[in-house]
Amino acid sequence: MKRIGVLTSGGDAPGMNAAVRAVVRKAIYHDVEVYGVIGGYAGLISGNIEKLELGSVGDIIHRGGTVLLSARCDEFKTKEGQLKGVEQLKKFGIEGLVVIGGDGSYRGAQALTSHGFPCVGVPGTIDNDIAGTQYTIGFDTALNTVIDAIDKIRDTATSHERTFVIEVMGRNAGDIALWAGLAGGAETILIPEDHYDMNEVCERLKKSKERGKKHSIIVVAEGVISGVEFGKKIKEMTDFDTRVSVLGHMQRGGSPSAFDRVLASRLGARAVELILEGKGGRAVGIRNNRVIDHDIADILEEPHSLDFNLLKLSKELSI
Ligand code: ADP
Repeated sequence: MKRIGVLTSGGDAPGMNAAVRAVVRKAIYHDVEVYGVIGGYAGLISGNIEKLELGSVGDIIHRGGTVLLSARCDEFKTKEGQLKGVEQLKKFGIEGLVVIGGDGSYRGAQALTSHGFPCVGVPGTIDNDIAGTQYTIGFDTALNTVIDAIDKIRDTATSHERTFVIEVMGRNAGDIALWAGLAGGAETILIPEDHYDMNEVCERLKKSKERGKKHSIIVVAEGVISGVEFGKKIKEMTDFDTRVSVLGHMQRGGSPSAFDRVLASRLGARAVELILEGKGGRAVGIRNNRVIDHDIADILEEPHSLDFNLLKLSKELSI
C-alpha cells in the first residue's frame, strides 16, 4: 500500500487533531503517502481531498476541534453516496482510509469496507459511547472542562445557598455525567442508564440541607431530561432556591488533555498499522492500557456499557 486517506466525521472532539497527526506521521514513517479528506463524508463525496505532509500536521497536537473539519452528511447514508466516495478515493489513488469519529462515522466506515474499500475506525467523541474501547478520544478533556465548571458553580452555589442543576452532554450515554458528577462531588447524578425517582431526589436535597449543607449540585445528562425542565420540577416540589446551568458546546472545545493526546497518538498509529497489514473493517480502542482492535460490525452491534461499579460508588459517596 502506497497511499492512505484520513478523515474526521460527526461531532468534533478534543484530541482529533492529535489522532490526525499520528496517522500522518506514522504513515510517512512507513513511506506511505497520506491524503486528508476535508469536511468528513461530505468532503469525500465532493472530492475535497488534499495531500498532507509532515508539516501539515505541525503545531496541531494541542488544539481542540479538527483541522480536517467535520460535517454531517445524509447523502453518505445512501449506497449511491457511498459509491461516489469510493470513486473519489480511487481517483486519488488512495487504497485505505482511517475514519476518526463516533458511531455514525463508524457506520460510514463499515459501509465503505463492505463496498470493498478498507477502512479502520478510531473512536473520537466526547461521549465515551462506543463499544470496544474503555475510553474515546475527547472524553477526558470534556470531563475536565465539566469539572472546572462544576467547581466554579459550586463557589457561587455555596455563597448563595443554592441548588444547582447542571446539564451536561453525552447524547444517550451517561459517562460524562457520571464521571463528572463523581469527580465534582455532586449529590445527585441523573443518567440514561439508571432510573430516577423525583420524590427521592427532593428527599435527598432536604436531608442534606438538614445536615447543614449550604448548596446542592445535581448533574443531569442531556439524554435523561433537559436541565431547565428538571430545575422546574425541583422548584415545584421544594422551596429551594434553584438555578440551572446548561454547559453546552463548551464541553466539545479546548486544548486536549495529556491523556487524550497520548490516547489519540496510540490509536491513530495503530489504525495505520492495521490498514498497512491489510486489515480493513476494524476499529481500534484501549482496554487496561493496551491498544486493541475489533471487527467494526461487532462494535456497532454491541451496546456501549457504563461502569455500573462507578455508579454504585457515586451513590455510596453522596449520602
Ligand atoms: P458521530 O460519528 O459523531 O456519531 P453522526 O452520527 O452524525 O456522528 O455520523 C456522522 C456521519 O456519518 C453522518 O453525517 C453520515 O455522513 C455518516 N453516517 C451515519 N450513519 C451512517 C450509516 N448508517 N451509513 C453510512 N454513513 C453513515
